[in-house]
Amino acid sequence: MNTSEKFEKYVMPTYGRYSLAPVRGEGARLWDSAGHCYLDFCAGIATCVLGHCHPVVTQVIQKQAAMLVHCSNLYQIPQQADLAEFIVTKCVQEPGKVFFSNSGAEANEGLIKSARRFGHRHPMADGSPRYEVITFEKSFHGRTSGSMAATGQDKIKVEFDPILTGFVHVPFNDLEAVRAAIRPETVAIMLEAVQGEGGVNAAKPEFLRALAELCKEHDLLLLIDEVQCGFGRCGNLMGWRAIAPDVKPDGISWAKALGGGFPIGGFWLSDRAIDDKGTELSSIMSPGSHGSTYGGNPLGSATALAVLQEIVSENLPDRANKMGAYIKEEIMSWQLPVVTAVRGYGLLLGIGINPEYVDVPEGKMLSGVVVEALRQEGLLTVPAGPETVRLLPPLNVSEEEVQQALAIIKRVLKTYCK
Ligand SMILES: *Cc1c(COP(=O)(O)O)cnc(C)c1O
Repeated sequence: MNTSEKFEKYVMPTYGRYSLAPVRGEGARLWDSAGHCYLDFCAGIATCVLGHCHPVVTQVIQKQAAMLVHCSNLYQIPQQADLAEFIVTKCVQEPGKVFFSNSGAEANEGLIKSARRFGHRHPMADGSPRYEVITFEKSFHGRTSGSMAATGQDKIKVEFDPILTGFVHVPFNDLEAVRAAIRPETVAIMLEAVQGEGGVNAAKPEFLRALAELCKEHDLLLLIDEVQCGFGRCGNLMGWRAIAPDVKPDGISWAKALGGGFPIGGFWLSDRAIDDKGTELSSIMSPGSHGSTYGGNPLGSATALAVLQEIVSENLPDRANKMGAYIKEEIMSWQLPVVTAVRGYGLLLGIGINPEYVDVPEGKMLSGVVVEALRQEGLLTVPAGPETVRLLPPLNVSEEEVQQALAIIKRVLKTYCK
């Protein structure tokens, strides 16, 4: 049996997979089993921030794997402590504490559970706990029961009801809608600073600031899902700071970039006092309240620390900014009618496609059709919602690789403009 046939027979058909079997990667290049070389502007969906098989990542994995792969969170894991210190002091740069998970959805579960705990500590006037989290339409927070409930897209919830209750979804960037949704049960607002899966929609700076104000006013937690936009992707180590650097969240979740391709996630809670006694917000996740067998193990933590150090020492957020601005400018300068907009921050970019110009076969999605056309020309990208093609190259992508990708994009988009 070949790979395709094995997938058919043995792997659950949950993904619409392209007919491409990757076997080797180097930087922004990916080779498949048929020997084709692709420019990889998918990068494991914003995960391989340093590109494939970056020597720093390969070496730290090899070295740590030969030392100690895993031990229990019952013990004090030095690599986990070092990683948490780096995230708090060098990345968030606000007093707080980190919990490590294995994925983005799990990191968001941590935020959701923290919100519920906070709702018990700061209940409604009648003493019953607050629990409701406001999230946004077109958001994506993950596929677990909790993170799926938080997600503002019906298509991922089909036939999984009853869905976990305690979430309300309002239109993104609509402050009045948020205001109207706040009720005594409300305990938190959770958002992506830049919605990735939902179409590369950025929060407006004034919206983010107003949310922070609303949270103060109503004693709500401001929870930012940085799983996709964090750690440099948007041109700042913290995604929301690319938009409104003065905003101070109460909780943050990460995954994707954190491991540079190695599976690890985490969430941070602020040390800010939540009462007159000086109780730290981060302390509400007390001993026994949460856990993960693998989260933050020696191999994952050592790898993530090396990835973050490389992002910082190579100043990759800045690079993402420069390259992103250049890509945006270039694409706009072509003035192709098939392009409605180029959105996003840093190297989380979305090319809006005008549906009037592209023939979409029955049962296919517009963005998927364009992504497939680009793939056939040797460039890997990702759909973001129905009408947006997402570019997520490694943050250290070279200028030459960007030029090559732009040439492919131009060639393909031009074919729609006849
Ligand atoms: C990818 C993603 C998730 C889910 O992460 P997993 O590691 O797939 O569980 C959550 N939130 C955002 C914003 C994401 O982009």
